[in-house]
Amino acid sequence: MKYYGNKSILLSISKPQLNMSLRFYHSLLLLQLIFCSISAILSQDNGDPAIRTMEAFSGYPIHESNSFATDFVSSLSVDALTLQKQIDELSTFSDTPAPSVTRILYSEKDVLARRYIKNLMTLAGLSVREDIVGNIFGRWTGHEAELAPLATGSHIDAIPYSGKYDGVVGVLGAIEAINVLKSIWYIDQFSFGLSCADWNFNRYGFKPKRSLEVIMFTSEEPTRFGISCLGSRLLAGSEALAKDLMSTVDSQNISFLDAARSAGYAKEQDDLSSVFLKKGSYSAFLELHIEQGPILEEEGTSIGIVTAIAAPASLKVDFEGNGGHAGAVLMPKRNDAGLAAAELALAVEKHVLDSGSVDTVGTVGILELHPGAINSIPSKSHLEIDTRDIDEKRRNIVVEKIHQSAVSIAKTRGVVLSEFKIINQDPPALSEKLIIEAAEAASKELNLTHKLMISRAYHDSLFMARVSPMGMIFIPCYKGYSHKPEEYASGQDIANGVKVLALTLAKLSLQ
Ligand SMILES: [Zn+2]
Repeated sequence: MKYYGNKSILLSISKPQLNMSLRFYHSLLLLQLIFCSISAILSQDNGDPAIRTMEAFSGYPIHESNSFATDFVSSLSVDALTLQKQIDELSTFSDTPAPSVTRILYSEKDVLARRYIKNLMTLAGLSVREDIVGNIFGRWTGHEAELAPLATGSHIDAIPYSGKYDGVVGVLGAIEAINVLKSIWYIDQFSFGLSCADWNFNRYGFKPKRSLEVIMFTSEEPTRFGISCLGSRLLAGSEALAKDLMSTVDSQNISFLDAARSAGYAKEQDDLSSVFLKKGSYSAFLELHIEQGPILEEEGTSIGIVTAIAAPASLKVDFEGNGGHAGAVLMPKRNDAGLAAAELALAVEKHVLDSGSVDTVGTVGILELHPGAINSIPSKSHLEIDTRDIDEKRRNIVVEKIHQSAVSIAKTRGVVLSEFKIINQDPPALSEKLIIEAAEAASKELNLTHKLMISRAYHDSLFMARVSPMGMIFIPCYKGYSHKPEEYASGQDIANGVKVLALTLAKLSLQ
């Protein structure tokens, strides 16, 4: 590893700076003691010279307790250059040449990338652990360690020929957010409203009340085993997935467990239920991510605060009709499975539009005809349909209408609806109001433009929402590109996102 920049923030404090910092600390301690001893006998108004001194020193009113001090906010400093170097370096753990990134679950490159992340977590002073499927956790213990920790994170796996920012910004950015908080020197303003005994005077900078945890989720992308958000689904306690994975194989017929073992996981046990988190394991979960859409960039808005994550229902449909010669079989005699599929594709569009909401979307991403010859009437057709919404009921109505259409199209066209299978039907998730408010307040205090928006792509947050209050922060990305090599987010936008993440975590960690 070449770059130890985050650590270098801490290591680069020179001796004179350290002495100055210690003097600063001692001065503050002295002032704190003075203030503490006289506060019992003096009234705490702005006429009080001790309070005036403290206010002048700290730069904010000492009775302030609802928002962070401006000193705290202005001292949030992101090492954007080092962060970019880390993003670039992580992108080299790839099975395809730059600028594309291909990093498949439990591949050699994935294992190396995981090692890179664990090293950075360690350098940030986090205690690192992994579960048996390779979800990685780095914890910064708070001063009330018995409280449920606050978590943030994302994924680093990448579909074939994709880019280097999807997920990565939310993992490396989260580690950098921890570094940002660790390198702050300030007076804990929350102390001022409390009795002297409760003051949290922290010599080494901000220290959270709740522990903070950075999570790198295993396999957000479905590339290898066809299951998206594999790690977070298991964390959320999916019994069905834990059972299915016992017999799941990849395209090379390698079982999930063998693949996990080759990467150093699931060595001693294969009971995947050990991965499940109890509800309430985290006080909140917050994910930083590129938008993967064009809205923020087009509007020139720095930060998107996600209010809801749309969730897909995925369907597989098969029709069987009668094949035949494209010239010899007359039109009234045909039972064309291809036309049934075409008609169903248009029905999907109609039912989605009929919902009346722009948040309802539907896509026929796969449409295959058999035998697939220009002069042969399709005897079989296969469709795969994805429909999403932030309103579960509305989306399920669309699914039901698609089913009704498939049945009636089969009847009219004299073909057989041989399969109509709902592959998954995940419920959408709503962000927690308190998290949205904290992220909004953080954006305002950092003077960053922001907007509330929904996430039409889904993320590990969708599943974390099942066991924890959840929120997401989006940053703009170039033309909304994602899942291709052109994916790009500027250093400034990433730094903005990390700052908002750090400040929001700081706020939530004290609640
Ligand atoms: Zn992602």
